[in-house]
Amino acid sequence: MKPKDVIVYNLEQALDTGGCPLCHCLVAATKRYLTNLLYEFVNDPRTRDQLRAAGGFCREHSWVLQRMGDPLAHSIIYADLIDAFCTELDQNSGGPRGGHSLLRPEKAEAQRICAVCREEAAMEDRYVDGFCDALRSGDFRAKYRQAGCLCHPHFRKVYDRVRIKEEQTFLAEVQNAYLSRLSSELKEFIRKSDYRYAHELPGTERDAWIRAVRFWVGPLDVEA
Ligand SMILES: [Zn+2]
Ligand SMILES: [Zn+2]
Repeated sequence: MKPKDVIVYNLEQALDTGGCPLCHCLVAATKRYLTNLLYEFVNDPRTRDQLRAAGGFCREHSWVLQRMGDPLAHSIIYADLIDAFCTELDQNSGGPRGGHSLLRPEKAEAQRICAVCREEAAMEDRYVDGFCDALRSGDFRAKYRQAGCLCHPHFRKVYDRVRIKEEQTFLAEVQNAYLSRLSSELKEFIRKSDYRYAHELPGTERDAWIRAVRFWVGPLDVEA
C-alpha cells in the first residue's frame, strides 16, 4: 500500500472507535514515534545530540514520554541534558552576561523546537490531507456519517482545506447532527441538576460534559 492509502485506511479503521478519527490516528502515530525515539536514545548518539541542541522536549511531551516508562532511556537523556547545561554554566560563570542561549530563557524558548511537536504537526498535515482524499469515497462517507464527527480543531482544519462546496456541505451536515445531540445532552444534564427533576435517573447525558471538552480541544494527550 502507498503511504497515502495507508493513511486513508487508518482513518477508516479509526471510525470504528468513536471520537475524532484524526485524533485517534495522530495519537497512535505519535505513540509509535515516541516508542522508536526511546529506542534510539539508548542506541543512537546522534539522536541525543539533536535533543541536546533542542534543549529537550516541550513540557507536555516530556511528561508523555515519562509516562511511557523506560528509566534507562530517561537516565541517558537527562544525564546528557544536565551535563550539557552544567558545562555551559561553568563556561559562563564570571564572564559577561547573556553569552549563551541556555542561560537566557527567553532566547532559549524561541529557539527550542520540540522534535515531537514538529513531528506531530507534519503528521497532522498528512492526515488532514488524507481525510480530504477519503471524502471522495462513498463508503468512507457513509461510515463517517454514522460514526460521528471531527473534534473542533480538526473540523476547522479539514473544513478550511476542502475546496469543493459539496464536501463542505457534507462536513457541516455531519458536524451539525453530532453537535445538536451533544448540546441536547448538555441541556438535559443542566435540567436534571435542578432540584425539581433531581429524582430522574441519569441517562447518556451524565458524561456529556467530558465529551464536550474532548470535542472542543481534542483528547488529553497521547494516552487518551
Ligand atoms: Zn481531532
Ligand atoms: Zn512537544
